[in-house]
Amino acid sequence: MTLRPNAAKPGTPVILGIPFDANSSWLRGAAGAPPIIRVSLHSIASNSWTETGVDLGAEGMYSDAGDLKFTFQEPFPAIETKIGELLDHGLRPVSLGGDHSITLPIVRAFGAHIPGLTILHFDAHPDLYDELEGNRLSHACPFARIMEEGAAQRLIQIGIRAMTGHQREQAKKFGVEVIEMRHLPALDRMKIDGPIYISFDMDALDPAFAPGISHREPGGMSVREAIAHLHAITGKIAGADIVEFNPAQDNTQITATVAAKLLKEIMGKMILN
Ligand code: MN
Ligand code: MN
Repeated sequence: MTLRPNAAKPGTPVILGIPFDANSSWLRGAAGAPPIIRVSLHSIASNSWTETGVDLGAEGMYSDAGDLKFTFQEPFPAIETKIGELLDHGLRPVSLGGDHSITLPIVRAFGAHIPGLTILHFDAHPDLYDELEGNRLSHACPFARIMEEGAAQRLIQIGIRAMTGHQREQAKKFGVEVIEMRHLPALDRMKIDGPIYISFDMDALDPAFAPGISHREPGGMSVREAIAHLHAITGKIAGADIVEFNPAQDNTQITATVAAKLLKEIMGKMILN
């Protein structure tokens, strides 16, 4: 059973769908992801237990705040306000994107509530561009803005395999700890003191495992490698997002199943750690 957020105990993971993909530089479609991930999460094709022994189907284990509706407010302030409300209730937001630009307003809210945040960022791409095609809020830029604003103390990136010269300079400038895909496994590097925020771009995975994304970059993680690194995290996890799943590119629906599996394992680790 999932509780409504206002009934959930402090510390409970709470799912929030953020159907926004207007900052995607190439293909749209990620805005359609949250309800499709939920269908897979609740599918009776699988059960509610995580590999680490947490029964997410037990009463009060997690909550679901539904999908954010963009009405009168600009999208980024709306996202920041909503995440801030969930954090005010002592909950641990797990956002379902949406393109990766949404991580900027999410982490702004986290930064205002939780000092000393370490971001663990799974991605093929560093997303550190100063701007892309004139858009400083592009899904290729969120971690440049986050580090400029000091919204997080530390940024660890893992799975990177599309680094450019400019972004290598940006990583150096911001002191980003980059674990490139070619250097995996890096399980020891997952020993991190909390609080940790996990930002999981689905294109960290090899497109053979997760083709339903907008930017397919071969040579990525297997689902097993991703889960192994998630399971190796030691510190307290304050929140997470799963972004860039693009249902319009997911002909076999396998990426939806993978996203739901990662969602389960991330929430399980949040409850355990
Ligand atoms: Mn990416
Ligand atoms: Mn990304």
